[in-house]
Amino acid sequence: MALALQCKFFGHVIDVEKALAIREAAQPEHRDSLRFECVKCGKRVRPRTAGDKHIAHFVHLIDNPECYFTDPPLEY
Ligand SMILES: [Zn+2]
Repeated sequence: MALALQCKFFGHVIDVEKALAIREAAQPEHRDSLRFECVKCGKRVRPRTAGDKHIAHFVHLIDNPECYFTDPPLEY
């Protein structure tokens, strides 16, 4: 299992801190249209802020079990 710490945004690889900053800077109604893509499978991902048990990382919008970056099980 691996956490995705980078994504593609308009063809550029950016890290999760950058993606969170972009999302933060966007108007709330535009946030859903920000197109972050998985660097491995190209499917859409969204940045997830760090929590108690995980660092900030990207998760697939729709689960993709085929992808190397599988989302970790929630441990809340
Ligand atoms: Zn993926």
